Amino acid sequence: MSETSKSPRREALFYQPKNGFDTLEDGQWDRAQALGEDYKQFLTVGKTERLSAAEAVRRAEARGFSAYRRGLTVRPGDKLYHVNRDKAVTLIVVGRRGLEEGIRLVAAHIDAPRLDVKPRPLYEDSETVLLKTHYYGGIKKYQWVALPLELHGVVVKADGTAVPVSVGAAPDDPVFTITDLLPHLAGDQMKKNLREAITGESLNVLIGTRPDAETGESRVKLAVLALLHRRYGITEADFLSAELSLVPALPARDVGLDASLIGGYGHDDRVCGFVALRALLDLDAAPEHTAVCLLADKEEIGSEGVTGMRSAAFDTLMADLCAEQGVPLGACFASSFCLSADVCNAFDPNYPEVSDKTNAHRLNYGLGLMKYTGVRGKAGASDASAETVGRLRGLLERGGIRYQFGELGKVDQGGGGTVAVYMAQRNIEVVDAGVPVLSMHSPFEIISKLDLFETYRAALAVYGD
Ligand code: MN
Ligand code: MN
Repeated sequence: MSETSKSPRREALFYQPKNGFDTLEDGQWDRAQALGEDYKQFLTVGKTERLSAAEAVRRAEARGFSAYRRGLTVRPGDKLYHVNRDKAVTLIVVGRRGLEEGIRLVAAHIDAPRLDVKPRPLYEDSETVLLKTHYYGGIKKYQWVALPLELHGVVVKADGTAVPVSVGAAPDDPVFTITDLLPHLAGDQMKKNLREAITGESLNVLIGTRPDAETGESRVKLAVLALLHRRYGITEADFLSAELSLVPALPARDVGLDASLIGGYGHDDRVCGFVALRALLDLDAAPEHTAVCLLADKEEIGSEGVTGMRSAAFDTLMADLCAEQGVPLGACFASSFCLSADVCNAFDPNYPEVSDKTNAHRLNYGLGLMKYTGVRGKAGASDASAETVGRLRGLLERGGIRYQFGELGKVDQGGGGTVAVYMAQRNIEVVDAGVPVLSMHSPFEIISKLDLFETYRAALAVYGD
């Protein structure tokens, strides 16, 4: 007899996770699909942390949130947001209980792997102008060639003027690309391993080929700079103080004949950012505890920087809120709970060898929980306690939320870290959880609509706890 054969004793004693589609209740799939439509829109317009932050603020203001300023007196039910340097956003719904009883936090990151433009990027070679890049986050470089790319960011001139740049997102815009070698001449390239075949220094983006009418050297570069000056009022020196990123020019769209999946760039971690945001915006009454959604930057390069999860910007904001109630920040954090919302890897039947199948997250099995992440014996993990995980399980069970536990790959296969550790350092109880992803960190990542929906419901449950 197999473990899955049915008997009341087996039903009671075995842990047998079920595919979420086998337990759907009336209306749930329709709600999951509607959420998926909204998410695709969020993902398509928010291809950098700045664009995601702006979209979060736009949505929050439309739902009655207003900007928080230090010293503001707040009341239960107040809806507030705070933007950290255009790249990170904290949103707050003030609870009925005081901050000494802690907050209910869902924290996610809205940056994603991409190609950043170097400080001195433009050069002309063989009457072709290219833009040098330095990749951001963990990418497999061969995936970023022969792909349409959009350019987004800001150029800040020495006089302080900030010039926003966005090319490639509008239907009539041109896009950019990095060329690859034709197979006919790729004999030597194809003998190299994947890490070496495409190098970081070869990720140069095609920008233009039409020469200026003026005779002399670098005529194409002159024409490109003249065009940039006409359109944005910038010169070559202004690239020194610019943040420009190249991201895949692909809209988010349904995947599969059954349209059960969503493909797009930047699920990691805008999918968790989106559900954290949507659930907070959907809170209709003042929650018991103050509910907080933190959308941070810089996770993909170690959560560093003033806009990253390690930044004191979050502590400063929370301390300001606590000061108004006369509560020490440490007392608030000690009673708080955080869902560290970050994607996990979904078991991939194309690559079964990297996962322990019994401890792998699967598509359509719901919210993916991780007691710990880390590498080489859990190094770098916050490793949530049995007590904390047990409490969260209880919350999810009471809400009928589909969840699953797993690890990121086999023991010693590799691994990864996330933001949980930086919340644990603040003395906030934290558990890692998120949406399982296929092709993570690629230009076209895949998630399941059902898992998106369950993660949204989990965020709602945490805020309302
Ligand atoms: Mn990542
Ligand atoms: Mn992530």
